[in-house]
Amino acid sequence: MTRDESPTDLMYPLALRVAGRLVVVVGGGPVAARRARGLVEAGATVRVVAPDAVAELTLLDATGAVTWVPREYRPGDLDGAWLVHTATGLPEVDAAVLADADADRIWCVAAGDAAAATAWVPAVARADDVVVAVNAGGDPRRAMALRDGVAELLRGGGLPLRRRRGSEGRGPVALGSVALVGGGPGDPDLLTVRGRRLLAEADVVVVDRLAPRAVLTELAPDVVVVDVGKSPGHHAVPQDRINALLVEHALAGRRVVRLKGGDPYVFGRGSEEAEVCRAAGVPVEVVPGVTSAVSVPAAAGIPVTHRGISRGFTVLTGHEDIGSVPASEDHTVVLLMGVSRLADSCRALIAAGRPAHTPVAIVEDGYGPGQRVTTGTLATIAARAAQVGVRSPAVTVIGGVVRLAPAWSAQNPSATPVRALATAR
Ligand code: SAH
Repeated sequence: MTRDESPTDLMYPLALRVAGRLVVVVGGGPVAARRARGLVEAGATVRVVAPDAVAELTLLDATGAVTWVPREYRPGDLDGAWLVHTATGLPEVDAAVLADADADRIWCVAAGDAAAATAWVPAVARADDVVVAVNAGGDPRRAMALRDGVAELLRGGGLPLRRRRGSEGRGPVALGSVALVGGGPGDPDLLTVRGRRLLAEADVVVVDRLAPRAVLTELAPDVVVVDVGKSPGHHAVPQDRINALLVEHALAGRRVVRLKGGDPYVFGRGSEEAEVCRAAGVPVEVVPGVTSAVSVPAAAGIPVTHRGISRGFTVLTGHEDIGSVPASEDHTVVLLMGVSRLADSCRALIAAGRPAHTPVAIVEDGYGPGQRVTTGTLATIAARAAQVGVRSPAVTVIGGVVRLAPAWSAQNPSATPVRALATAR
């Protein structure tokens, strides 16, 4: 190619297996060090030729990862090499290396003169076994910026990462995996980046009723979606069957995402499912999620702790006996599930010593289109909830922090303003 052409005009992209093969790096500066490190990571046998070397190179030499020849380049240094990188910063030396490499038919990367080089190193983004290499018309900064954009998409599941080539007919079936992904309270924006990425790679998605179901529309048409959604009183798929499903699909070589509401370990039976997978020898990963216990109150403007108002919080299910939690107003109680048992829960809390006038808020369908906040006190909330027809899913918050909710001041205009309470301490 002539030097007038852009380096990418006649480029033939290729990936090299350099493991165990000699690669010569000429130069001892930071660029040479970066190249040497990359080559070492790829398993190459690396010879560095340079009179002086930066600390990173001398360290690589000291550990035996590279062999540093501490002198100026001379003809013959490329003998036996499969590939050469020259990055001396001296145009005449780089040109000599390039010429020698060309004469010996060795591909040569030249950091200082991309147009004269016979090989180029792309900017690279990796995600597990995926490698995306970017060349951008000989503009390394542009290539790196593009690479960063691709890396971001790869991390966040914005690209179709799913494996297409199955193990069928290629010997024993490869083992699949299960990821228990906490989906947050329902808004897809509140799903973690890791969760999204695993979804983008999934072959099978086993989904709960309260998971962020909107993300299902983004899945490729051939992804198997199994809806095991339970609603109160209607256990669509029994837990044993869910456990068996996860294991069966993973043993058949599929990547399974178990998409759950909130956090998998907060009343989500996540640890049971993880245990069943481990017992069956299936690799399992647990991805935390934003729990509704904290986020759904927040959606209604209620912090579970607040300096001077609440010093801690307890999360329980409304199905449990809730008499034993600290009874003071500065300890917030959050109840999940059990909307139908609200009156019993309130009676139990009063019996355990909580004042009947303790504020209570019920937040239905947090972050969803039907979000609604109903407030009252331990004495009045059950009747108010019945009156407005409160339904699952809902989180009930009990304690002084409820006074911080806009709905509290709107619905209880004669109650003590929260500012007076906070400063009274
Ligand atoms: N693992 C989940 C909780 C599962 S129990 C988590 O960490 O959030 C299911 C209960 O969560 C529901 O009965 C309800 O009390 C609560 N919940 C979950 N999502 C909710 C939402 N968007 N709005 C209100 N309550 C919700």
